[in-house]
Amino acid sequence: MSRSVDELLARGHALNSPNYAPADIIFERGDGVWLTDSTGTRYLDFVAGIAVCALGHAHPRLSEALHDQVDRLLHVSNMYFTQEQIELMERLVERSFADRVFFCNSGAEANEAAFKLARRYQSKIADAPEKTKILSMKSSFHGRTLAAITATGQPKYHDGFAPLAPRFEYTPFNNTEALHNNFDDTVGAVIVEPIQGEGGIRPARQEFLRTARTLCDEHGALLIYDEVQTGVGRTGSMFAYQHYGVTPDIMSLAKGLGGGVPVAATLATEEVWQGWKRGSHASTFGGNPLATRAGKIVLDVIDDEDLLDNAHERGQQLRDGLRALADDFGNIITDVRGTGLMVGAECGNKASEIVDRARDEGLLINTAGGDTLRFVPPLIISADHVDQAVERLRRALERC
Ligand SMILES: *Cc1c(COP(=O)(O)O)cnc(C)c1O
Repeated sequence: MSRSVDELLARGHALNSPNYAPADIIFERGDGVWLTDSTGTRYLDFVAGIAVCALGHAHPRLSEALHDQVDRLLHVSNMYFTQEQIELMERLVERSFADRVFFCNSGAEANEAAFKLARRYQSKIADAPEKTKILSMKSSFHGRTLAAITATGQPKYHDGFAPLAPRFEYTPFNNTEALHNNFDDTVGAVIVEPIQGEGGIRPARQEFLRTARTLCDEHGALLIYDEVQTGVGRTGSMFAYQHYGVTPDIMSLAKGLGGGVPVAATLATEEVWQGWKRGSHASTFGGNPLATRAGKIVLDVIDDEDLLDNAHERGQQLRDGLRALADDFGNIITDVRGTGLMVGAECGNKASEIVDRARDEGLLINTAGGDTLRFVPPLIISADHVDQAVERLRRALERC
């Protein structure tokens, strides 16, 4: 490196906006499940950019396709089509309940589009202008724009940002009785993560999603799944809702979709899309050919390399390994949960310390919900990677 690590870190900490607190590591390159920092230290990456790098780092097919795309066409605007955009829409619609796709650049934006779609559908198509309420779950996470933090059912994300967006209300996650009680004819949409991610890797109960679907149908409300974290193979099916057999009207996607290239999407049924007409919404960068080429390759590689099965099997192996650690360190890990390669290990107020010790052992993980270790590795991980991660975590726990 042309500049010293210490000098770069000092500049980084001085110039970075104060909402982040990065570790003293400067990453230089990645290869599969491994990351290498500027001192040559290698880390097993079970963060994967927070469930973003679905194909790991520098996957040959993604690299090659992106090189080709950069040399050919980066951006044209939504006044025109590109083949890349059309082919990603085809793949998303073929694999899901949806009929049409809106592209944007982040999970928060995909949720904003979902809210705007639900509001306009209710006011313009369902002729129900009173259905403006959006019901979301306590301990949920939906992103950082003003409407997305409002939907996020965690007060710490609201602190100092009032006034929030109007007509959002909260109901306890996985509590069907409370959902009944909080429902009425002014609810226009319900938003729920099939597995809460940032809230601590907490899967919805099937009965809860079924009740949400039934109540939405009875009251003319739309069901929105925020699959920003759970979508695109993360849980061992293409979308997490497919495990439950309970279909939404609208779904948001982002994190894993571009394998590291920013791309997000809002999907919905033809009926719901009636709510938007020309000019209702837009995103300048949304669906540009670089982003959608990445998305198309991610979906193709998931199929070609059987990554759904791999996520299922490696996830099982990881949970088994963590449960064995829980037995050996009984007072530390109190619960292991998750689906596919979206795995959480609850460990109370020790979570942050364990993350730091794991990093010392060359394993990158982070926390979710404050008290839970989160494991969201690339979908390409092998059995050997999982064994190595569990072994490194064992060494970290020994030092806690
Ligand atoms: C990460 C996340 C978001 C926000 O995505 P951004 O790209 O950071 O805006 C929204 N919903 C869920 C479930 C997420 O995990």
